[in-house]
Amino acid sequence: MQVEDIRRLFLGTFVRPPEETGGAPRVEAVYAYAVPHASGLVLLDTGIGAADEETEAWYRPRRVPLDKALREHGWILDDVHLVVNCHLHFDHCGGNRLLPGRTVVAQREELATARRGGYTFEALIEGASYEELDGEAEVLPGVHVIPTPGHVDGHQSVAVVCDDGSVVLAGQSHDQASQWSADALAAEAAALGHDEPLPTYPVWMDRLREFDPRRVVFAHDAAVWLPR
Ligand SMILES: [Zn+2]
Repeated sequence: MQVEDIRRLFLGTFVRPPEETGGAPRVEAVYAYAVPHASGLVLLDTGIGAADEETEAWYRPRRVPLDKALREHGWILDDVHLVVNCHLHFDHCGGNRLLPGRTVVAQREELATARRGGYTFEALIEGASYEELDGEAEVLPGVHVIPTPGHVDGHQSVAVVCDDGSVVLAGQSHDQASQWSADALAAEAAALGHDEPLPTYPVWMDRLREFDPRRVVFAHDAAVWLPR
């Protein structure tokens, strides 16, 4: 598998209201990623799930069905072998229920939080067979799931090792690629010869940077981070 073989799936949009942005409403895209692994297709996230009336009115989501998004790349739902959810908010795990029998990878902490209620829509997470992780794991050869807490405590990202380099599927570790850029520079600053004071950055940036990614991609930003 080459870096270019990993594809982005466009699964819709929603509108974040002014109450959440502190300014004007903001349209947000929802992206999943498909990794054509030798074992079968691996998905990071599955799209926007059905919400209640109140949430629908608040975010006004427009969904692209997962099967339609897959079809654009020549795949069908049956091609999916494994699902990793970066976290279990309703805009990331909406298509899980379309994939019965497939293992869903989540941090144990995240699943416990989601099952406690008031966090996601429970129908979206019921009935799946979970592989619950306590931290980092190589879930398939070359597919590394790495905890990246921040947006939520149980957030996780994926680093995929391809024949020609690695790709980090960051999910919502950062809302925007430019935030990754800033954290990556902060992590590099001492090595670049800068003295304190320097900005802090999440400790897990060091682990993700060990993969020396050729690109880093995000759940809510079409922009892609590229190395120097
Ligand atoms: Zn999200």
